[in-house]
Amino acid sequence: MSEFAERVVAWQRVHGRHGLPWQGGRDPYPIWLSEVMLQQTQVATVIPYFLRFIAEFPDAVSLARAPLERVLELWSGLGYYSRARHLHAAARTVLRDHAGRVPTVPALLEALPGIGRSTAAAIAVFSAGTRAAILDGNVKRVLCRHEAIDGHPAQAAVLATLWSLAESRLPDAGIQAYTQGLMDLGATVCTRTRPRCDSCPLAQTCAARASGDPAGYPRPRPRRVPPWRPMAPVVILAGDRVLLERRADKGIWGGLWSLPECASAPALAGEASALATQLLGALPAGVAPAQPVPLPGFDHALTHFRLRIEPWLIAGVAAGLPDPAVGTDHPAARLRWLPLGECVGAALPQPIKRLLLGLAAGAQGVPAEGERRG
Ligand code: SF4
Repeated sequence: MSEFAERVVAWQRVHGRHGLPWQGGRDPYPIWLSEVMLQQTQVATVIPYFLRFIAEFPDAVSLARAPLERVLELWSGLGYYSRARHLHAAARTVLRDHAGRVPTVPALLEALPGIGRSTAAAIAVFSAGTRAAILDGNVKRVLCRHEAIDGHPAQAAVLATLWSLAESRLPDAGIQAYTQGLMDLGATVCTRTRPRCDSCPLAQTCAARASGDPAGYPRPRPRRVPPWRPMAPVVILAGDRVLLERRADKGIWGGLWSLPECASAPALAGEASALATQLLGALPAGVAPAQPVPLPGFDHALTHFRLRIEPWLIAGVAAGLPDPAVGTDHPAARLRWLPLGECVGAALPQPIKRLLLGLAAGAQGVPAEGERRG
């Protein structure tokens, strides 16, 4: 056994957690249940939920046959409800495909809903003594620190390194004490803030401790640069009124009134013109639109992506108001004319409002305001 594993095992026997309600047995069902409950949740919080749950659903078959509503009721307060839904769905798969017996082979476990590689390994270790590596959040932190890995586990290369380290450290014997020890060490000694290095069995060989800044590992998660998404709205003006279209309920700015948009972006003049022809044709007094003119493009940042907005202007349309009596199925029911002067108080997406206010001010573009969230 490596010195690393020896130290973890010896520490676990004395200082680790023993006698938890799901420990000591070989039945994979309570081990699975505890592993799922312990994801993002502390042991002390999990214990009463685990006891109530196991009393009502003592095995995978009773869980599979229970209504989901009852499962969610028993989960209520534990949070992350997708865990309960997956657990229930997985129990049904166990009943259907494994005659109600929870498998103990990692590959079969990983095929069940809500069970990832690390959880599958933990269930296999504790129920069957399988020599498999776990890599939950606590273990990632311990390994990142012990090796002073320069990066964050969310980065694919760092994660691959961690898995390979986790595999290479597995002891030939004592896999259960070792696995439990790593979990306990991360939860009670090598904590996220203020690790207790003086009480750690790995202190002598820990590179992060040697660096003098153990809490500086893992490194902060790198900021994701949001991707660009192009958008080609079309400003169709009839006098001082602009044609608005209600957006679909799903997607960005769902349900808001906004400018009609070309299906592809950036769009060519012909696409803007075709869109205007189609929309104006749906109106009672629609007429052929004038030639599109490109407006200056601008950027707008949203939470998950950045918009590159390349608008078109079609002015001089002599169209009448849509008939307000048209039924909701009629395409015109999603269209309305808005006087440009009323844009200030209208519930429009922020960059669209800026664009229209710029036009109202005669600027034929947007104010130079830089990027903003809307
Ligand atoms: S020595 Fe400190 S930083 Fe290193 S593994 Fe132990 S508790 Fe974590």
